[in-house]
Amino acid sequence: MHRLIVATWIVLFAAVAQAAPPYRVLIVDGQNNHAWKATTPVLTKHLTDSGLFKVEVATSPEKGKDMSGFTPKFADYQAVISNYNGDEWSEPTKQSLVDYVGKGGALVIIHAANNSFPKWTAYNEMIGLGGWGGRNEKSGPYVRFRDGQIVKDTQPGPGGHHGKQHPFQVIVRNSQHPITAGMPTAWMHANDELYDKLRGPAENIDVLATAYADPATGGSGEHEPMIFTVKFGQGRVFHSPMGHSVEAMECAGFALTLTRGTEWAITGQVTQTKLPEDFPTADKVSVRK
Ligand code: ZN
Repeated sequence: MHRLIVATWIVLFAAVAQAAPPYRVLIVDGQNNHAWKATTPVLTKHLTDSGLFKVEVATSPEKGKDMSGFTPKFADYQAVISNYNGDEWSEPTKQSLVDYVGKGGALVIIHAANNSFPKWTAYNEMIGLGGWGGRNEKSGPYVRFRDGQIVKDTQPGPGGHHGKQHPFQVIVRNSQHPITAGMPTAWMHANDELYDKLRGPAENIDVLATAYADPATGGSGEHEPMIFTVKFGQGRVFHSPMGHSVEAMECAGFALTLTRGTEWAITGQVTQTKLPEDFPTADKVSVRK
């Protein structure tokens, strides 16, 4: 019994020591059909300004170039944030990400990062839902909020779509989770693409907030996942379909979602419990330059 208690304390101490901020975070970019050179600095600024993270960036070779030398050491970081949508990585690099997350690492997926790697099974399991790249009913269900609950819809159809960019309300569906705790039930997100019709394995997915993809702006007519998490092996994944542009990422709501989501993916908890004064309200966008 005594030995067990000592062992437990050692494990607890090790966990706490490893989890002390500032957390080392790696943003992966270098290819994207979005302005990654402009948006990675916005992600970096939000993370750094929170005081919790120390950010480094791994930039891949350009599209079409040899990727064999792109070998970020994911395991050296406490979280990996993907702002990447591009060419396949080498098998060893892919496997090292799977090992990293599977063994308890933290992965954060931003917007078009969920377009990446449509054929990579483990990646799609990690991100839960993705879009484009030939994704369809074989990729997994659509995930929607209908009649007060999250439902998985297996009807055939393409994965990934969006209407016209516009500011839209994010509706918190689970305010008990550390990432969304204390947020207003509805808050107005800055001008962005509202991703709809995402599809994927959607296993171990926890949808915390949705947004209504209004047909009036070309949307699906469904309440679509907008803040969610995925459990993969021992690891935690935080996924934000928001973040098309600098303007979208400058939203104070996006900023808190990012910094809370990243902290949660690392520790399973959130210390940033106080809502910032500039947090958007139900009908007013709030942008942080
Ligand atoms: Zn986009």
